Amino acid sequence: MKLALIAHDGKKDAMIALAADFLPLLRRCRLLATGTTGARLAEAHGLTVERMLSGPLGGDLQIGARLAVGELDGVVFLRDPMTPQPHEPDINALVRACDVHDVPCATNVATARLLLTSWSGE
Ligand code: PGA
Repeated sequence: MKLALIAHDGKKDAMIALAADFLPLLRRCRLLATGTTGARLAEAHGLTVERMLSGPLGGDLQIGARLAVGELDGVVFLRDPMTPQPHEPDINALVRACDVHDVPCATNVATARLLLTSWSGE
């Protein structure tokens, strides 16, 4: 299982808390993340994460490119709906790529919990 994990600044603590609840699954997965999210996950939980560029510098696009060639099974993308993002087009491109390729994409914690719970049982 290959997963991408991305959290906007206002959602990074939520991502760390979410990951804490699914560590056995996440330790079994190959993980990709945008730069700061990946660093936080490695620091908080000792997870091995392949880190892309930071989101505003193109990290979402790098993840989208990997997804488009079939390298990802799912994306947890905790977007902050209350804060304008300079890289909004990149965010939309990644979510669109998930829809184009029919890859599960959780954009809030409740949906992420459903997906990760489902994958934990596989
Ligand atoms: P970051 O990128 O993990 O490097 O902060 C995510 C984002 O803010 O888009």
